[in-house]
Amino acid sequence: MKYAQIVIIKKAGEFDDPLTYKIPSELDEVLKNGNCVKVPLRSQIVNGIVVEMNSKLPSDIDSSKIKEINEITNLSLSERQIDLAKQIADYYRTSLTRSLRLMIPTAIWKGKLEEPMKVFYRKRGNVSAPTENIRGTKQKEVVQLLSDNEELDESEINASKATLKSLIEKGVIEKIEKPIYQKYDYSQFPLKPLKHKLTDHQKNALSDIEKSDKPILLHGITSSGKTEIYLRAILDTVKKGKQAILLVPEIALTPQMIDYFKDFFGSHLALFHSKLSDGQRAVEWWKVKSGYAPLVIGSRSAVFAPTDNLGIVILDEEHEWTYKQESSPYYQAHHIGEMLSELHQAKLILGSATPRLESRYKSKTGDYAYINLPERIHKKELPNIKIIDLRDEFKKKNFSIFSLALQNEMKEKLEKKQQVILFVNQRGMASAVVCRDCGYTEECPHCEVSLKYHKYNGFTNQKPVRRGGSQITNDALVCHYCGFKKNLSISCPECKSPHIKHVGVGTQRVESEVESMFPNARVIRADKDTTSSKEGFEPIYSAFKKGMYDVLVGTQMVAKGLDFSNVSLIGIILADIGLYLPDFRSHERIFQLITQVSGRCGRGETEGSVILQTYQPDNFAIQSASKNEYEEFIESELEFRKKLSYPPFHGLIKFTVVGRDLEKLREHIQIETEILEDIFKVNNLPFKIVSAPAMISKIADRFYYHVLIRAEKPHVIFDHWK
Ligand code: ADP
Ligand code: ZN
Ligand code: ZN
Repeated sequence: MKYAQIVIIKKAGEFDDPLTYKIPSELDEVLKNGNCVKVPLRSQIVNGIVVEMNSKLPSDIDSSKIKEINEITNLSLSERQIDLAKQIADYYRTSLTRSLRLMIPTAIWKGKLEEPMKVFYRKRGNVSAPTENIRGTKQKEVVQLLSDNEELDESEINASKATLKSLIEKGVIEKIEKPIYQKYDYSQFPLKPLKHKLTDHQKNALSDIEKSDKPILLHGITSSGKTEIYLRAILDTVKKGKQAILLVPEIALTPQMIDYFKDFFGSHLALFHSKLSDGQRAVEWWKVKSGYAPLVIGSRSAVFAPTDNLGIVILDEEHEWTYKQESSPYYQAHHIGEMLSELHQAKLILGSATPRLESRYKSKTGDYAYINLPERIHKKELPNIKIIDLRDEFKKKNFSIFSLALQNEMKEKLEKKQQVILFVNQRGMASAVVCRDCGYTEECPHCEVSLKYHKYNGFTNQKPVRRGGSQITNDALVCHYCGFKKNLSISCPECKSPHIKHVGVGTQRVESEVESMFPNARVIRADKDTTSSKEGFEPIYSAFKKGMYDVLVGTQMVAKGLDFSNVSLIGIILADIGLYLPDFRSHERIFQLITQVSGRCGRGETEGSVILQTYQPDNFAIQSASKNEYEEFIESELEFRKKLSYPPFHGLIKFTVVGRDLEKLREHIQIETEILEDIFKVNNLPFKIVSAPAMISKIADRFYYHVLIRAEKPHVIFDHWK
């Protein structure tokens, strides 16, 4: 007797562990991991996915209680997907149910297992020509049409339902159902001739990609022609009969790239993004599953498309935050890409003008291959970045959010009928406190990240678990990592100025200030409010590109991969705002943002310049970004990370511990922390464990604590501690 472990397709959380069923002898030979089957559960018949098969039952299970699989369905995942789900469940400490849930669209998960089908008509084999049985020209026409064509759908036949019905009743034609999406011959691609002749740099990059058997970091400055390289590498793969996945940070922000790929793949392209309905998502899923679409383009979750013979995975703009899932399972798309690349022996390409520090580090240690594209396609220079010290503006009594230099340049460009982008960094808004006179910000003495401004409404009279702190009353500055707290200063600890306050400028404020300063300029705003419709950023993007507006005021979304040819000035309203994020990656993010935003200008015939306003003109990230010194920045940042045991040198694991009784919660953390410490000590591994109340420390009468582990191999704990 053989047994199968089956993940029940049901509401999440209900059946987190696979259940055991007997495999009936008639399925013995055919059943595979990944098959969807029907099984009895309590008094119902439910769907499940086979994830493992064994020839023995564990001794603690009574074989007489084990039920049998009822039947096998047509739906299946590939065995490689099951392997991937297992790896994800293991690494990200989640259940197999939850990791499989990533791979199956909601509609299918809810039980709509059938492939989308379409009705076709064809002539019956035993009828060779129109007979006397067929009356009327319409019927004759249909029969003729179906004699000339093997099978046609309703729209191709162009006859009434009654005509078709009558012919079926006479036994002349028959109706058949076939899947809408069928396997396509991949050697047909590209469906249109290619547009560009590759440059030497592009050719070399492609041949290096071809040769490499490691993941590849493609480090190419903005406008160096990376997209064309992706296209060619994908075509090479697809022509070999394999599938390709191209991930983009956010699909709404990349309309031009998708249009470009549609030229060569037509409808044989599956698109996955967050705005799809459940039904639409299932359709895209079937396009891939059936082999109709060899190319998948989408945001993070597209990495789970149902591929069974994947040849290449590409992450464009691989430095973007959106590649990390911020809810369980907390996966990083890069990591899933690495897993897929191993499972399918597929190529993995990470492309960016400002690679993440982790990726650049792996290319230095030899884990990744490294390809550099140092030139822009049209040999255009990168724009010149001018740093404006806002502390001087304050002294000059210029209280506008635009420095005098920015005002002058805007005036000049607008007179020349050129376009301007004003970039407002909204992440980390108003969460930090800065001195307007000297630029001082407060950092945690233990973690070297900015302290976050916090109205303390939680359990203010309690001390953090492992580290003492002064008593907090109302407004406080708090470290996100270790829980260090201090009172908000009334004057600057550095220069004693009273002008120490929150910083933050919103897009609306910038928009209205442009309108009052340049009444003739046509201004458009791109932020969460103006892009929340189904079309997202697209209408604003097109209108600005067509020249219907002179000034675009926008958040992060204007930084990503957009191509405007008439933009000659970029104003970065407050560059340092991201520096105050309580995140060890904040400097890296700022470097990336400045570089990406600046890359939006000087792309066409017009020369570009960038004005960067800041209270911290000497900050290393700002300095090196403005001089385009990526490698210098990375080297210094790596030193910082090493010194403070941050990734890529150490791994991080964060637990969130929740409970109603604060005393019990802390006691529990104390006990578990000691167990964890022992595990590291016994294994002789360096580590640091801290715990602190979460930023929002109390929700609905429940207390939230974070326990953060920094260690070289934090995963060892899971070998010893359940
Ligand atoms: P990146 O992705 O590196 O920012 P793109 O792929 O957007 O760069 O390329 C920048 C511009 O150069 C695009 O307008 C693209 O159409 C064009 N381009 C790319 N490769 C070539 C080529 N080989 N010849 C001519 N133009 C090219
Ligand atoms: Zn000061
Ligand atoms: Zn700290």
